[in-house]
Amino acid sequence: KKIIDEVHRNKHFVYQADLEQAIRTVLHNEVPKINEISGERLLALQRFLAVLQRYNPLGANGQELVAKLSSFVVQFNQQITGKQFEQELQRLEHQYSPIYSSTQFIGCAGSQQHYRGFSCSLWTLFHYMTVQAAQNDQSQDPLEVLQAMHGYIKGFFGCTDCAEHFQAMASRRKIWSVPSKEEAILWLWQAHNEVNQRLAGDSTEDPEFPKTQFPTRSSCAQCYRGPSSTTSHLDISWNKDAVLGFLNNIYNPEFISRYGLQ
Ligand code: FAD
Repeated sequence: KKIIDEVHRNKHFVYQADLEQAIRTVLHNEVPKINEISGERLLALQRFLAVLQRYNPLGANGQELVAKLSSFVVQFNQQITGKQFEQELQRLEHQYSPIYSSTQFIGCAGSQQHYRGFSCSLWTLFHYMTVQAAQNDQSQDPLEVLQAMHGYIKGFFGCTDCAEHFQAMASRRKIWSVPSKEEAILWLWQAHNEVNQRLAGDSTEDPEFPKTQFPTRSSCAQCYRGPSSTTSHLDISWNKDAVLGFLNNIYNPEFISRYGLQ
């Protein structure tokens, strides 16, 4: 209740706790669950770890962990098992402990156990990485984060229905033609809004956190051009420069909330 109140007070805050929970769940649950990681999946894991290494929201120990894990996985060019990955993860976590400063979701906490949580934090992590990539010169490839996300969702995301929807949307929205890092931020924002629209009123929606177009007018009035009566994502006329500014702001590491950390 205390956490939900905090999130209602600060509706568009991004929380460090959620970024960490996303990484922890990916590394501990989603990747080890795959028995044999080879071919396209192995490449997807290598790409995911490479972008996570570049745009890593964890502290110094977490940076070391991801860098070492990434080098470990790159050594394999045929196949790695989920078990091998898990064993190396445990060894490295022991060596570099403590890695995480939170054990709970904050911005992604649901009003009940089965709502929100990991899938919310995974969106948050990928939005965060698209924003970091645009503010950073480590790579000139505008697609690096979207490509890593596409591969991750296809190869590892436990919600297989979601993965199929996402791949279909990615082709329809021409993910591979995104021309710049700023457009990559906006591509993911628009794709996420399409999913929000589709899932509004769905049984998976947390009644405490109804799906809306993001950001809401009350969070970012200047992001909207059209009249205040439009709510469908197809009718809204967005001011994309203002949306980009808004996303750059909320995902700026300086403004990420450390609420709930130990
Ligand atoms: P989420 O939609 O998870 O959003 C997380 C946070 O991101 C929000 O709290 C908000 O702060 C912020 N946010 C919201 N919209 C935007 C935006 N447009 N741009 C930037 N930030 C934003 N569930 C299904 O039932 N069917 C599916 O097909 C499906 N596909 C999915 C595909 C992917 C790739 C992912 C990661 C998840 C998918 N899910 C799907 C899960 C679903 O999208 C939500 O994650 C889940 O319902 C929890 O919703 P939420 O209210 O916590 O907010």
